[in-house]
Amino acid sequence: MILDADAAAIAGRPDVTMTAPGARPYVDVAGVGKTYRRAGRETHALESIDLAIRSGEFLAIVGPSGCGKSTLLRIVAGLVGASRGDVRVEGARVDRPQTNLGIVFQSPVLLDWRTALDNVLVQVELRSLDPKAYRDNALRLLDQIGLKDFADRYPYELSGGMRQRVVIAMALVMNPALVIADEPTTALDVTIQAQILELLRELQQKFGTSILLITHDLGVVAETVSRVIVMYGGEIVEEAPVGELFARSHHPYTEGLLAAMPHVGQERDRLATIPGSVPPPTMWPNGCRFHDRCPYAWERCVAEHPPLYQIGEHHISRCHLAEEPERRAHPHEPAAAKAGA
Ligand code: ADP
Ligand code: MG
Repeated sequence: MILDADAAAIAGRPDVTMTAPGARPYVDVAGVGKTYRRAGRETHALESIDLAIRSGEFLAIVGPSGCGKSTLLRIVAGLVGASRGDVRVEGARVDRPQTNLGIVFQSPVLLDWRTALDNVLVQVELRSLDPKAYRDNALRLLDQIGLKDFADRYPYELSGGMRQRVVIAMALVMNPALVIADEPTTALDVTIQAQILELLRELQQKFGTSILLITHDLGVVAETVSRVIVMYGGEIVEEAPVGELFARSHHPYTEGLLAAMPHVGQERDRLATIPGSVPPPTMWPNGCRFHDRCPYAWERCVAEHPPLYQIGEHHISRCHLAEEPERRAHPHEPAAAKAGA
């Protein structure tokens, strides 16, 4: 949920994301693609992703379900191999699960027979480190996410939201240099979401932790993250510092996403929605993958796959409007809406 005043403040924020020129990115993803092959079917989940995460950067990835967000995250974490391209962390090629990494998954898994505190310390023990050395940090984290009185409780005594928070503490307890979180707050109420984002921001500021956060709700993270990557159909379609994205979104999918963000006092069912649905990744359309849902699409968008155009200094967009901006003045009903999809 985001207030109009907040949106204005975010839009007006100076871009502070970029580090000194020449600084090597902490994570460097180059030309990464992923094709899943299962039962003779090919799913093109990711297509030539280029992405650099700098030390201490707080980056959000947004996009519809099935656009490849979790796949990208698992590849960066070294849990899934890329079909094409190269992932480097601190210059070293990622070809196995990364150690200096905290991962928060979408569905929390805890050990039933251990208390919340001992669950938080599992990773420490798995790495043959002394849990006593991390106990204070674990307790402090539990305190910060509102579980001070639950350290000695067992998972079955905790609500789903509490278990999710234990998993977050688990990922953070060793002060990893990179935190990767896959929609960590989706199931949580707004107050807890804010606490968790605050905790992540604090880590980032205190320890220079790099954070890659997948979210379905841009409104929730808008004030926390520095840069946003928008994905659609296995590709990056727009990338910009958060203030720039709110002030001058370029890609029509992003535009639709921002228009659909709930504002205070607005009913859910009155929100703008994007017509149609994401095509299955076994059969991408030619041209732009968003063209049949796009209110500006013209012949070129059906025929020619758009590259990532440079829109501003740190702003890129995969949309031909970059070259023919006058067409934005004449929106029409998207093909998907006409088809009644
Ligand atoms: P997101 O996280 O954005 O929802 P995913 O990365 O989970 O997207 O999935 C991208 C596409 O890859 C989807 O079509 C999904 O069905 C497919 N996919 C994901 N994991 C696998 C897998 N292990 N085997 C086959 N297909 C998969
Ligand atoms: Mg996912």
